[in-house]
Amino acid sequence: MAAFHQHLGFSAFTGAAYSATLWYSGTVQPPVALLAGATCTFAGMLPDLDSDSSKPVRELFNVLGMVAALLTAHRLRRQTVLPPESCLLAAAVVYLGVRYGAAMLFRWCTVHRGMFHSLPAALIAGGLMFLVYDPPEMAAREAVAAAVSLGYLSHLVLDALWQLRSPEGFFALWHGGPLKLFGPSRWANALCWSLLLLIAYGVAIELNWVSPLEPYSQRWLSALDHPRHNPLAGR
Ligand SMILES: [Zn+2]
Repeated sequence: MAAFHQHLGFSAFTGAAYSATLWYSGTVQPPVALLAGATCTFAGMLPDLDSDSSKPVRELFNVLGMVAALLTAHRLRRQTVLPPESCLLAAAVVYLGVRYGAAMLFRWCTVHRGMFHSLPAALIAGGLMFLVYDPPEMAAREAVAAAVSLGYLSHLVLDALWQLRSPEGFFALWHGGPLKLFGPSRWANALCWSLLLLIAYGVAIELNWVSPLEPYSQRWLSALDHPRHNPLAGR
């Protein structure tokens, strides 16, 4: 399988190409294009969060914790009236939670190249980024979220290319290779696909494709209040 520095090189190449495309097509501002390229490069290492805690993986949780803390502080400052000190405290809690909590959880729950190396996982990563990163321009939000999925995918593709070179070759790739939709564990499949559906629902709400559940319950409540259903209503 491809080593850490090979994944880094491949995702950096993908990120540079993506960044250049965004820049020259004028889809987003140049700083956003650069951020998207850097995000893609970083995301290319994410699938190996499931491997045993070797040094690069520990570093990865460190960086991931810092990114999560930055995003938390940014969002809280922009969208709440919390004092700056509370935002900083919340960011510190998020950092520790990811650096130690998530790292421990991963060591317990994940199998190397289980469902963390799969196509739905690539979509989950991008969807999560879309939900947490909320800049004023929608184009920037979409570009950076897509960068995460793209970088993640670059990792899976490189792992798949490596698997093709193994003696089992194409057969191994077809049966549970890194570009799989389902793995051997039913629990992991159910968890992964439920998470993807939940995140897709969140993304659809943010894009105004569907409305959140609340208005529906309001509508049901007011329907129940109608005299036809509730003789006491309206008296
Ligand atoms: Zn891998």
